[in-house]
Amino acid sequence: MKIYEQTELDFKDVLVKPKRSFINSRSEVEITREYKFKWCPRKIVGTGIISANMATVGTFEVAKHMMQNKMFCCLHKHYPVEDLIKFITENDCRDYVFLSMGLRDEDYAKIEKILTEYPDKCRNICIDVPNAYIPRVKELVIKMREKFPDILLMVGNAVTAELVEDLILSGADIVKCGIGSGSACITRRITGVGRPQLSTIFECADTAHGIGGMICSDGGVVYIGDICKAFGAGADFVMMGGFYAGCNEAAGDIIERTYLTDQIDPETGNRMTTVKQFKVFYGMSSEYAQNKHYHGMPKYRASEGRVVEVPLKGPIDKMNQDILGGLRSYMTYIGARRLKDVSKCTTFYRVNTQLNTVFGD
Ligand code: 5GP
Repeated sequence: MKIYEQTELDFKDVLVKPKRSFINSRSEVEITREYKFKWCPRKIVGTGIISANMATVGTFEVAKHMMQNKMFCCLHKHYPVEDLIKFITENDCRDYVFLSMGLRDEDYAKIEKILTEYPDKCRNICIDVPNAYIPRVKELVIKMREKFPDILLMVGNAVTAELVEDLILSGADIVKCGIGSGSACITRRITGVGRPQLSTIFECADTAHGIGGMICSDGGVVYIGDICKAFGAGADFVMMGGFYAGCNEAAGDIIERTYLTDQIDPETGNRMTTVKQFKVFYGMSSEYAQNKHYHGMPKYRASEGRVVEVPLKGPIDKMNQDILGGLRSYMTYIGARRLKDVSKCTTFYRVNTQLNTVFGD
């Protein structure tokens, strides 16, 4: 039996120390940075926030809004190739859009067609496999880098230094890190596998940066402060699914649910009701997703995702404005003038309690 004795940390286990700052206003900070990659020769200026390649938030609609803020969108892999081609030829997807692929031959054929027939439209690729520890992932990274040397290549998911190093040296520019931390994920419940997200970022970012690579922290953002903590811990990109799932622009119908309130209707004497609006959000490894996007759940697999109804949160532009506002404020607190400086200006306190929940969470 082997066990690592040191306690691993999540976003909720830390707060950030405020520091003397020479920044007088939040408007003085630079929330974009220039990304230079290990293998891809292009440079991109952006704020490294990415909507996840999940069916409801990795959509064309969400992508259009993310791009406007110099943020990224990783499109889900279930769009037919014709739809992807139409989208990337009608919109400038060179910087802020990633196309996703898994290990299936159909996925490869789709990406190969786009990269060869539309070479100047979108060359940012995300190889997304929940468990990147299987050998076929590394083989695909090597193949993609050999065939398309100039692509920006993200691959995941990993949570340890060894795999991050291996994937970067095999041809990845960015390794997507996080296992079990997703809001619609049940991997930890059904397998016991996973690693707290903050410790994952510490270890993986340190390794990646040491060899010229980058990491994308994937999953586990509950509050905007968690995005700040992820950048503070060393993440170059932060990917979110559940956080965007309740925005108006996310795919899916609005569901209305009626609830009883504590107020009594004076005329009828009955308890009054209130209507709340929700959207359906589901894990991409859930049985629901398997039925919707494939031909049902294969017998050898168990569902590793769940279906939830998330409260409607309003327009995505407003959410992004809140995110950028939070990030600006964070940078002012820690004295980081540029996004690039955030991790070197961050010092964490380990805490037992993060929030005051006297009036609810
Ligand atoms: P969130 O921002 O919602 O906390 O996490 C989003 C991430 O959860 C995705 O980018 C992806 O890595 C992960 N994820 C999405 N669907 C599933 C699923 O069905 N099972 C598991 N284990 N992870 C999922």
